Amino acid sequence: MGKSAKEDIRCSFCGRSKVDTNVLIAGISGHICDRCIDQAHSISKEELSAKNNQTVKSSINLLKPMEIKKYLDQYVIGQDDAKKVLSVAVYNHFKRLGQTGIGEDGVEIEKSNIMLVGETGTGKTLLAKSIAQLLNVPFCIADATVLTEAGYVGEDVESILSRLLQAADFDAAAAEKGIVFIDEVDKIARKSDSASITRDVSGEGVQQALLKLLEGSVVGVPPQGGRKHPEQKLVQIDTKNVLFICGGAFVGLDRIIEKRMKSQTLGFSASKQMRDIDKANILQYVTPSDIKSFGLIPELIGRLPILSHLLPLDRSALRRILTEPKNAIIKQYVKLFEMDNIKLTFDKDVLDYIVDKALTHKLGARGLRSICEAIMLDAMFDMPSDKEIKELRITLDYAKEKVDNSKIESLKVA
Ligand code: ADP
Repeated sequence: MGKSAKEDIRCSFCGRSKVDTNVLIAGISGHICDRCIDQAHSISKEELSAKNNQTVKSSINLLKPMEIKKYLDQYVIGQDDAKKVLSVAVYNHFKRLGQTGIGEDGVEIEKSNIMLVGETGTGKTLLAKSIAQLLNVPFCIADATVLTEAGYVGEDVESILSRLLQAADFDAAAAEKGIVFIDEVDKIARKSDSASITRDVSGEGVQQALLKLLEGSVVGVPPQGGRKHPEQKLVQIDTKNVLFICGGAFVGLDRIIEKRMKSQTLGFSASKQMRDIDKANILQYVTPSDIKSFGLIPELIGRLPILSHLLPLDRSALRRILTEPKNAIIKQYVKLFEMDNIKLTFDKDVLDYIVDKALTHKLGARGLRSICEAIMLDAMFDMPSDKEIKELRITLDYAKEKVDNSKIESLKVA
């Protein structure tokens, strides 16, 4: 009798018998099979994401530009101009999302994608990532250098949206309100300012393809990305409300800006004006026409109407980056050791030494981490196995020895 009763157990939701299921879980007064669990999970996910979308929208409405900037200040050191411009742009972007069609006055707020110009490692990606975190919207980073025109070897621009869709957990509605950071957009500049006779597939062609995404269009997106799965169903994504932030180092742009400024300041007060220019931070004078001279097509520049710059990080900025941001590198090491019940401290001169090394090796903010890793690796390897140790103080001599014995010295950038 026991046996037949067992075979008779069924899923209380779909009625499948135990033998027809992979897993059947018993509850207080019923059972549920694996298929019903899956189905229930997707239903609850859908419901929850609809609710989340509503809460995101209402919480976004409450955030004023000053509050957005204050949040960014916790994660990004310096770069006040870029932070201000981004805070206002994001605030307006979400105001625009709140508007329903064109008002009676005929005014429709247009989408304002953003272009960030600044040396590598100055915080462009970090800014975009922090904004997405604050707004709790899907965020993805795309690398412009791997993009090619459709049909060529490389990734189509649509692959960017596949990534966004993945970041949104395949919730198309959430993806449509996401933020995309397109890195190294300067690498798709055409090679010279004059119109080229031959088309370059990785330059102007990609710019043309990007235009479509940036201005807003409905794009069929393969959920898994790429063309390797031709059988998969395309998901339609409207990019009208996706905020695109493009970033690039634009190496050589400083010369273009300087040349333009020199030619503009001809005449009586020219030499004085040129003297007043802060040449070390010349990117702050960037205009759309400089970007055009660099080799981006005017249509694309037109779709990125908000232009801002990030300044090179000086000694004091690098020093602050080590300890001040909410998830500063040094704070992370202290926390890692705390998990092994070890109190980790750094002597002040060690921090200055790390900054010096990053500066002399021209490694920028990214180098801070590699130098810290070189200093901390042995300790991170040995300490967890030594139960006696409760404290570790990193002194300058210790740091120097570890760096001298590491590969950092060979990282030097010419
Ligand atoms: P990029 O400008 O090349 O996009 P990133 O934003 O990727 O540079 O910066 C690389 C790393 O350097 C970041 O993860 C962060 O740890 C650090 N960093 C760079 N700039 C700043 C900054 N202004 N404030 C705080 N950390 C920064």
